[in-house]
Amino acid sequence: MFVLGIESTAHTFGVGVASDKEPYILSNVKDTFVPKEGGMRPGEVAKHHAEVAPKILLEALKTAKVPMSEIQYVAVAIGPGLGPTLRVGATLARALGLKYGKSLVGVNHGVAHIEIGYWSTNAQDPLVVYLSGGNTVITTLVKGRFRTFGETLDIALGNMLDTFVREAGLAPPYVAGSKHMIDLCAEEGKEFISLPYVVKGQDMSYSGMLTAALKALQDHPKGDVCFSLREVAFDALLEAVERALALTKKKELLVVGGVAASQSLRSKLEQLSTDWGIQLKVVPPTYAGDNGAMIAYTGMLMAKSGVTLDISESRIRPRWRVDEVDVTWR
Ligand code: MG
Repeated sequence: MFVLGIESTAHTFGVGVASDKEPYILSNVKDTFVPKEGGMRPGEVAKHHAEVAPKILLEALKTAKVPMSEIQYVAVAIGPGLGPTLRVGATLARALGLKYGKSLVGVNHGVAHIEIGYWSTNAQDPLVVYLSGGNTVITTLVKGRFRTFGETLDIALGNMLDTFVREAGLAPPYVAGSKHMIDLCAEEGKEFISLPYVVKGQDMSYSGMLTAALKALQDHPKGDVCFSLREVAFDALLEAVERALALTKKKELLVVGGVAASQSLRSKLEQLSTDWGIQLKVVPPTYAGDNGAMIAYTGMLMAKSGVTLDISESRIRPRWRVDEVDVTWR
């Protein structure tokens, strides 16, 4: 079985092809929108996606050496994400479905991050930390759903760090592939500044921390603020992770999503895993950021268990939470 997967929930437009047999992932092609300055305007990102879509689609099929006629299902991330960009992927999926007579599979973007994490790290029964630009979620599979143990109460950790470096004049957030500006800037830090640290139960809050860090730039060196902000932000997450570990007694910690590529976070999680005597499993960089392969792969799992989507039901779901998905294929 071959499944095409389309990703367009945020700044990345990606297409991948998955098979239900080794090697499972046959192609993974993407193009990420980078704003010239400032943040992302959804309309502008959607325009980018629409422009690159034909090229990315053809390249994904060509790399996989699978013609459209041999694709059985077209999987598409229908949420959560930005309305205008989600619509580009959904429209392409519907058009392909109608033109070639293929069934659709509606994939939850967050669940796809988790599934590609299971597959790429061979995790069995992990506590999952899902960290991306828009999500900060601690979850684990219980009775057919990825139940939320903790999450951010306001903005995501990744979004907070991106916004900070942009406002501090350090943009773009990512340099040399996956290195984040916050880490480069933090290397110059010498002194720790106190910033608001908010953990409520197992939930984190990052908006107050961001405001305080931006204000601190007025009378502290940038390096000190970057260093302090990173430490406080990661420690809040780690505290919530430790609580979830204590509660669930899981022996594996799986980290997925774009922020999983952060080296500084990884070394903190390595220390935590050693302390707890558990295995740390971090999704490899190829599958950490948004990509089409994870949508194709998850779509394959879903299609195999009979979960498909009627075209009339294929509306986008910008606020579709991970814990709203019935994981019937596991
Ligand atoms: Mg993502």
